[in-house]
Amino acid sequence: VARHLQALGVGGEQLVGVSTYRSVDMMVAVLGVLKAGAAYVPLDPAYPDARLEFMVKDSGLTIVLTEEVLRERFSKSTPDIVCLDSDWPTIAEQVSGPLGSPQEPGCLAYVIYTSGSTGTPKGVEIQHDSVVNFLESMRREPGLDEHDVLFAVTTLSFDISVLELFLPLIAGAQVVIGARNVIEDGAALASAILQAGVTVMQATPATWRMLLAADWQPQSRIKALCGGEPLPMDLAGDLLQRVGALWNMYGPTETTIWSTCQMITNPNDVAIGRPIANTNAYVLDRQLRPVPLGVTGELYIGGAGVARGYRGRPELTAERFVVNPFLNDEGSRMYRTGDWARRNPNGSIDCLGRVDHQVKIRGHRIELGEVEFALVTHPAVRHCVALVRNIRPGDARLVAYVVYAASQTATAAEMRKHVRATLPSFMIPQHFVVLEEFPLTDNGKVDRKALPSPFATTAAPAEYAEPETETERRLAIIWQEILGVQRVDRHANFFELGGHSLLSMGVIGRITAELGPKLSPRVMVLQTLAQIAAECDRVTGGVCNEATPTVGLWSRLVTGMKKSAGRV
Ligand code: AMP
Repeated sequence: VARHLQALGVGGEQLVGVSTYRSVDMMVAVLGVLKAGAAYVPLDPAYPDARLEFMVKDSGLTIVLTEEVLRERFSKSTPDIVCLDSDWPTIAEQVSGPLGSPQEPGCLAYVIYTSGSTGTPKGVEIQHDSVVNFLESMRREPGLDEHDVLFAVTTLSFDISVLELFLPLIAGAQVVIGARNVIEDGAALASAILQAGVTVMQATPATWRMLLAADWQPQSRIKALCGGEPLPMDLAGDLLQRVGALWNMYGPTETTIWSTCQMITNPNDVAIGRPIANTNAYVLDRQLRPVPLGVTGELYIGGAGVARGYRGRPELTAERFVVNPFLNDEGSRMYRTGDWARRNPNGSIDCLGRVDHQVKIRGHRIELGEVEFALVTHPAVRHCVALVRNIRPGDARLVAYVVYAASQTATAAEMRKHVRATLPSFMIPQHFVVLEEFPLTDNGKVDRKALPSPFATTAAPAEYAEPETETERRLAIIWQEILGVQRVDRHANFFELGGHSLLSMGVIGRITAELGPKLSPRVMVLQTLAQIAAECDRVTGGVCNEATPTVGLWSRLVTGMKKSAGRV
């Protein structure tokens, strides 16, 4: 693949798009690009066309490595498309054997796009020296050696996949790439981990929760790396009971994957730990002066991991990457993370939330401004404010508050369809709340804290189709409990009612536990309550299990939700 790319003129500092499904081809593509001396740009096939097109244009891609089934997606935007399957006979004509290593440490290794607050995603440029420093540091701590088997679950477009794909290779360990249908299904993931003899896995809290919800019982004492968003204490407690070691990993894309980490032994202490090798962490006030121990400031990261910047965005780069006044090294910079932090007497750091409107939903980084920007391009939307509401542990929902333009209206389905053209699924609001006007603070800003709960204001649909069969009624109860809604129309779609992927896994689990049939998680995406109930009846021949009490995490979550129902 590398030689084929070189024959097409690919070389140093050039970018090559990579868009494949999760298979060994993903690894072949990434290694091929790096070996050719170029840098890769992940283009997630799950993203809408308009977003992929934006990324292709913004990064100046002229070539994409992909698969035949995805060729069409890039035919308009990219001159050169290489398909690892259909073009393989040509690629295979290249001689094999080692290629020289054309890169300098300061060459780009990858450019990863993250959500941008002004409405469009931004590409973070990471160099080889940053990645090498990161991998060598991770090899020592949390540690990986040739006896390890790491199970890779993260999409290529999230930078933590770099640890999953390359750390095993540099340590002589084994990497098992989880296929999409496995990594989205807790029960399938649990059994794949068991089968592969996995010793190390890295995931965001959402994936760990999905595994626990599937009643995962690891056979071996797995090393669990959790990061990408705050590690909740309840999750830390649950994981500590099952895994051999638990690590809290912290870091923004802009400072190369993880910048601090700590082994967690006490679920009440979920600090993000200390900097990794050749990395500095500073807790500073507004004048960039270090704040005293125990005092909250903003976290800045300096050292080997600091990115080159945002591709083609010098002003934004200058705003977020500032001169590092603490190192004598000329030209050294530090990244302003936007995280509130505090240093503990033992040297570890606590992460205390965001300075701005960047949020995390099931591990995905989202600038709320980008969601708002997409919504106000709908002709019926005059103003929009998006925010995240934590309904209960592990259930964060994106809520859009909308003020209509004069004499215009739009349904939630219409607004959702509109933003789906540009935003990936994790950025689509679960709830839409229409307001006459936004509550304001004394100084005239939108008072986000005063915005009502989506459950308090969602009007009941004018026409309500009651569940009809016994299976529909029992399914409706499961949906009500998991979604926290009062009633469910038999023609409703789970996702339109505020459901998201993790919650839908909970529904699938409860359908199996309470009604009997084991359905594919995909049924939840397209079908209505009535259709899913019919599918249950078809699988069981119309004889569902007697009502049984639920077991495990979901029942605990539901009990917790009922207790907090008054506060939702
Ligand atoms: P990303 O660039 O997607 O890796 O997102 C980086 C941001 O995620 C950080 O600036 C934090 O706000 C948050 N984050 C990542 N890991 C952690 C963690 N272990 N604890 C708290 N926040 C985290």
